[in-house]
Amino acid sequence: MIHDFRRAPPAQIDTDLCIVGGGMAGIALAHRLAGRRLDICVLESGDDAFDRDTQSLYAGDITGLPYFDPTTTRLRHFGGSSNHWTGQTGVLEPHDMAPRAWVPGPAWPISHAALAPWYAPAARLLRFQGEGYAPAPLFRSIGLPASPFAGDALQVHIWRHSDPPMRFAAAYGPHLAAAPNIRVMLGANVADIATTENASHVTGLEIRSLAGHRAIVRARAYVLACGGIENPRLLLNATTTQKMGLGNAHDQVGRHFMEHPNVPVGRLAPADLAGLYPYVVRSPRVHQQTDWRGAVSLSPAVRTREQALGATLKLDLPRVGVLGGTGPGHAATHPGAFAANLWRRYVDGLVPTPRALPMLDLVMELEQAPDPDSRITLTAERDAIGLRQPALHWRLGALEKRTARLLAAEVARAFGRQGWGRLQPAPWLATPDDTPLNDTWPDDLEGAHHHMGTTRMSDDPRHGVVNPDGRLHGTDNLYIAGCSVFPTGGYVNPSLTILALTLRLAEHLADVLEKT
Ligand SMILES: Cc1cc2nc3c(=O)[nH]c(=O)nc-3n(C[C@H](O)[C@H](O)[C@H](O)COP(=O)(O)OP(=O)(O)OC[C@H]3O[C@@H](n4cnc5c(N)ncnc54)[C@H](O)[C@@H]3O)c2cc1C
Repeated sequence: MIHDFRRAPPAQIDTDLCIVGGGMAGIALAHRLAGRRLDICVLESGDDAFDRDTQSLYAGDITGLPYFDPTTTRLRHFGGSSNHWTGQTGVLEPHDMAPRAWVPGPAWPISHAALAPWYAPAARLLRFQGEGYAPAPLFRSIGLPASPFAGDALQVHIWRHSDPPMRFAAAYGPHLAAAPNIRVMLGANVADIATTENASHVTGLEIRSLAGHRAIVRARAYVLACGGIENPRLLLNATTTQKMGLGNAHDQVGRHFMEHPNVPVGRLAPADLAGLYPYVVRSPRVHQQTDWRGAVSLSPAVRTREQALGATLKLDLPRVGVLGGTGPGHAATHPGAFAANLWRRYVDGLVPTPRALPMLDLVMELEQAPDPDSRITLTAERDAIGLRQPALHWRLGALEKRTARLLAAEVARAFGRQGWGRLQPAPWLATPDDTPLNDTWPDDLEGAHHHMGTTRMSDDPRHGVVNPDGRLHGTDNLYIAGCSVFPTGGYVNPSLTILALTLRLAEHLADVLEKT
């Protein structure tokens, strides 16, 4: 059932499992547990559509590197940011999760092999056709080599596209509404988390509506699935028994905020678009109606050798008409569709490659290393339901800069050798090493709306917030879902991994709760 907390507010809700947040992670968790022997209540702050007052509960401060406004980098209504995500994602590589001596902080406390089986059901939630992530068979299917590069520095990896992007509330809301064991409570904002004196057990949640209604929710277990800024914010606001905030005895909550910095690395004078496009084009439709594409990234071998992070290239496509030669009947108005269509026509020999090709902007998407001072804290300002607002201080370090330089150098070499084109590197890449780091990055540096690392997973409570099951260290019935638990974020968009971890968590919760 879907209820509106504001229409008929109960004084107390009793349930087995309370999921806070009806975004991608919260909906996937409830969907997976539909029909099980568990009563489940999903608390969702928003309605089923955008509402300005509810969205303004996301307001906060930004310091450090320029970042998106906290009210625009996520959506606060049923479905969460899946209501406007772009749908591009992929798997983490084993190398991304393994211990790397040059990357600060703990590695993932679970192995890639333990996570891998959950990627297939996660892909089904996004309705991908097939489950391929290996470049060789996919490129073979369109008659191209998966590794066009000599040497071992660059690799081609696979992105999958949820196309059109999966809107979780629209797609799975009806299933949750029909499930006899699930209640979704809209308009219910969690405002406080009550615990025993030593915080070893959560005793209840206080929920509030914007109209002033209040209620208590009591469950056997609770999951925070409110996104990577809001999960730490809720813990830091829960100070009744723990002055530093819940789960924060070791001052880890909110630290290690990581993004996937998107940074322009130069302009490419292309020489062979037909050769280049299949490997760096951002549209999935390079061949027929596929939902995958290749992308060029640093190989694990070179990352290890050079002690670098992960990084991949994005090609910003020229606008329709810029290349010419496609004729008035060319229907594409979307740059991705245009490029893909053009590529097919070149490959099919239907049009000659134009003589004067425009310069193309190359953008890089980088892995960010965990940094304790890149973090979420609280301001003194309170929102309309009484929670202190979040402040994000985003920092990048020398490792990210060195990684960007490495990929730019390898790409310049490889693209030249392939005859694909010449790279004119962006001036910021040449700034001296002793330039203060926040002055290093160009003005058009951006994040990607991926809020990772702020309640990271670790074996040791001194270095993280949740244990390998996603349970808050020191508290026996509070779990966290979403990419705030990632200890490191790789270089691929996080949603497929968010879903894989969430489905793994669902099985764990069913095991724990159905037994007792
Ligand atoms: C413009 C944009 C494009 C993106 N594109 C991509 C992409 O191409 N690929 C990719 O992998 N990722 C992308 N992302 C990121 C992706 O959308 C998020 O990582 C993902 O949706 C996070 O899901 P979540 O469920 O963890 O959190 P959210 O989607 O943030 O959901 C949190 C939910 O919790 C609710 N909530 C918050 N606070 C409370 C409270 N106190 N009480 C009750 N409920 C609460 C919110 O209303 C919301 O519904 C994009 C994001 C944006 C903004």
